[in-house]
This record gives sequence, structure tokens and C-alpha cells, in this order.
Amino acid sequence: MSKKFEFFEQVELNFDKASKYLTTPNDILEQIKATNAIVAFNFPLKKDDGSVEVVQAWRAQHSYHRSPCKGGIRFAEIANRDEVEALAALMSYKCALVDVPFGGAKGAVKINTKNYSDSEIERLTRRLTFELYNRRFIGPGIDVPAPDYGSGAREMAWIADTFRSLSNDINASGCVTGKPVTQGGIRGRTEATGRGVALGLRELCNSQVYMDQAGLQLGLAGKEIAVQGFGNVGYHSALYLSEMGAKIIAISEYEGIIEDPDGLDIAALAAYRRENKTFEGFSGGKFSHDSAKVLSLKCDILVPAALEAQITIENCDDVQAKIIGEAANGPVTFEASESLYNRGIIIVPDIYLNAGGVTVSYFEWIKNLQHIRFGRIENRYDQKNYKNIVNMLHEITNKPINEEVVKRFATMGDEENLVASGLEDTMIKAFLDIYSVCEANEFEIDLRTGAFICAIKKIALCYEESGIFP
Ligand code: NAD
Repeated sequence: MSKKFEFFEQVELNFDKASKYLTTPNDILEQIKATNAIVAFNFPLKKDDGSVEVVQAWRAQHSYHRSPCKGGIRFAEIANRDEVEALAALMSYKCALVDVPFGGAKGAVKINTKNYSDSEIERLTRRLTFELYNRRFIGPGIDVPAPDYGSGAREMAWIADTFRSLSNDINASGCVTGKPVTQGGIRGRTEATGRGVALGLRELCNSQVYMDQAGLQLGLAGKEIAVQGFGNVGYHSALYLSEMGAKIIAISEYEGIIEDPDGLDIAALAAYRRENKTFEGFSGGKFSHDSAKVLSLKCDILVPAALEAQITIENCDDVQAKIIGEAANGPVTFEASESLYNRGIIIVPDIYLNAGGVTVSYFEWIKNLQHIRFGRIENRYDQKNYKNIVNMLHEITNKPINEEVVKRFATMGDEENLVASGLEDTMIKAFLDIYSVCEANEFEIDLRTGAFICAIKKIALCYEESGIFP
């Protein structure tokens, strides 16, 4: 019988493993590892029937090496303090890895959203914001929440509205990210995490070393992929992966699994599930109730996009995928990671693969502080300049310019395109950073250790140059 799953301890095991490759002094390592502050709440929620329920919530600020702290708020029945601390720590390492200048944070509310009405969730979210505000645990320069499991743009809009009315801060919109675009959000945030997952897996599949290790052909096109969870991250990962030419052969949700060896139509499946609240009955695939089966399917890439500790020492021997892309946070335990690595299975770690969300959240926060949408000032000016260049080329060469190229100039500076481009650049650069560390270690370390080494080095540098440590 294995011991109880302690998520924070799991993160520390990964940290300690990577630290062995660094010369960073121990006192700095200890400071980096520690949760800097955590607050626990028990507040009353008035239900629609007049009864009152006590709701438990937490917010952990893992690292103040950069301000503000940043991390999602999860609404989940399984939430607990250990999980919040672990997720906050992962946020610190994730932000450092992708050069987003925030410390890590995370929050959670211990509820199953399915048991609450919309107005109950609104009251609860506003009350939580009030509690965070009272303890100086929220603010554009203090701590900036975002969506996570069980929460989305709607909850972020309620948080922003409550914070604005309490603070009168001119930068109030920057107190939270993942808001609807009409409420100060940014185009491309909702899909950012899934898009980043697809880009990260594309980078891995374009790497000869790793494809040789997995015994797979170079490139993402044609890869057979199974996805666990069809929420924000699972849906968008599946959508972008299939747009990039991969084949999504199975997707699981809590009610069961839907499979098609020729590849599922992701948009049609999402529309069906939105209407019917289940995969059952969808004509474009075979349904069964055995949702756990997704983890042991024969496929090239398995993408867990639901919750932590899905692949453990108990079930990791059943994994048949050659690559695991951690879209969720902490889906593979430390022990299971070691065992899978020994079997030659490649794990693309969470702190890299799902960093697209916080990257675009960073863009949204900058937009909120600047009070202007990206591209607004320079867009038309740039288009005119590009048009002049096209015309000059036409005059010099006396050849017609491809209509498609001319059309592309008309949209190139849009906020959506700029965000997508910034995200792609971030995912490519971070992959190269991890790759370089692994290469310097003759590929004898796993990608997670490589990613942790990159992240710890950057945070350590911040402390080393702060003058706090002798
Ligand atoms: P979500 O609530 O939108 O979706 C999660 C889905 O997983 C739900 O539909 C749920 O029914 C399903 N699910 C739960 N347990 C399952 C199981 N055992 N089998 C199959 N399906 C199951 O949440 P999300 O925002 O997509 O987050 C998913 C994961 O990604 C979490 O670990 C979260 O921390 C991580 N993450 C999210 C973001 C973001 O931007 N939303 C960013 C980084 C990381």
C-alpha cells in the first residue's frame, strides 16, 4: 500500500532532484522552496433556499521574489491546503521558466460547482474577493488570480467588479486575469493554455533526439493522441492538436470515454456535449462508461488535462503511450515519473506545457495597466508601411504580388495575432532552454528535471542579486 498522496511533497521531490545539478547555496534553495504566505477562510454562504453553509477556501502565495504573485482559483470538492500550496509552488517555477515576472500563487474554494446555482456561485465569488481584499491578498501589484479547474471568465468578471468597487483603484482591472474581453480581458486568453499545450508538443515532436527515443517519426502530424478531461484545457488542447494534423483518437470525461481510431471531430463533439451534457449518443465515435481506460490506451501521446495524481505507481505500468503531455498540473506522481522514465516514456512537464495560460495572463495584465489594447496605436501605421513595401516590390520586380500576402497584412497587427505570436514565441524559447540544459547533461536527465533546473536558476539569480543573502 503506497502512502497518502502529498502534492506539495511531490513538488519538493522534483525540486530537490533538480537542485543536485546546481551550485546554488542551500539557504537560497530553502527560501525558494518555502511557501511565503498562506491564508485560510471559512465564510458563510447564503443558499437560495435561505439556509447557510460554511465554505472553506485558501490562497497561498508561494514566492515574493517577483511582484505581483499570480495563480488561478480552483473550485473543486477535493481542494485542500496541501494542494493549494503545491499548485502555488508550481506557479513560481512555471512563471520563472517562461520569463513571466511574477511570483507563484494559487487559491481554491472547496465546493462541487454542480451543486450550486449561478447566483450562489456569484455570491460566493464576491465574498471570497472581499475576504482576499481585506487581507491584502489581491490587487494588481499584490496578487492576481486567474481561472483554473471549475472557474472561468464569468467568475473573473465578478472578482474584478467586486475589487473595483472596494478599491477605486485606477488599475483595478489588473487585479485578475482571464476576464471576458468586454471586461478588460484579452483576445486569446480562454484558449491560451490548450494552444500552448499543442505548441509545446509540436516542439517536442520536431526534435529528432526525442522522437528517436520514443521510436516515432518526426513531426506532430499523424500522431495518435488520447486526452483525459474535456474542460477548458482538454478541449482547446484537442482542438489545436487536431488543427496541427494530429489525430485525437480518444477523449474521456467523468461520464465515460469516446473513441474513434480515425480521429474525433473536436468541434462537433464539443457542440454535442454542450447540448447533451454527455458524450453518450455522439454519432462520431464509440462511447463506453470506462473513463479510466484513457490512461492505458495504446497511442503515441497521452494528454492528462483534468487533475493531479492520475498516473501513480499503482497504474503507471498500464500506460502504453510513448509520450505524456502534462496539460493538467501534477497529473503524474514523482514515483510514477521515475518508473515511466526508466521505461523510456517521455514526460513533457506541466510547468512547461501548460504555461500558455499564465503567459497570456501576463499579456492581459500589461494591457490592463497600460489601459490600451495591443496594436491599437501602431496597427494601421504598420499596415500602411507594409503596403508601401509591397508596392515598391511590385514596381521593382514588375510582378504581381500574391493576393494572400496582401490580405495577411490587413490583419497582422490585431491583438489576437499579437497574443498568438507572443505565446508561440514563449513556448518555443522555453522548450529551447529546457533542451539546452538536457543537452548539456547529455540527455541523461528527464525534461522535468531540465525544466526545474532552468526555473530554479532564474529565481536564485533574483535572490542572489537582491542583496538579502550574503
Ligand atoms: P475545467 O474545469 O475547465 O476542466 C476539467 C475537466 O476535467 C472537467 O470537465 C471535468 O469534468 C474533467 N474531469 C475531472 N476528473 C476527470 C477524470 N478523472 N476523467 C476525465 N475527466 C475528468 O478545468 P481546466 O481549466 O481545464 O483545468 C484542467 C487542469 O489544467 C487543472 O489541473 C488545472 O490546474 C490545469 N491548468 C489550467 C489552466 C487554465 O488556464 N484553465 C492553466 C494551467 C493549468
